[in-house]
Amino acid sequence: MNVTIDRMECVSCGACWNTCPELFEQNPCDSLSQIVEHIRFCGDRAEGILQENDERCAREAVNLCPVQIITITFDESEKM
Ligand code: SF4
Repeated sequence: MNVTIDRMECVSCGACWNTCPELFEQNPCDSLSQIVEHIRFCGDRAEGILQENDERCAREAVNLCPVQIITITFDESEKM
């Protein structure tokens, strides 16, 4: 299960990092949301790998994001 942020559309409202600081943070240079370093997929600031216990908070951030740019995706094997 992965989470992605379409960073270029972020309006820096803070909803995601205030709700799930263990998953999201504000980039100090461009002020946009990014994935926290230790869960990044291949070092990508815009994509992270979620554990099962991260899903609830990530879904809350998806619902709170005012520009709807946070997405959770599942591998085919996880859909079974
Ligand atoms: S909730 Fe959405 S718009 Fe707000 S900081 Fe997070 S990614 Fe950006």
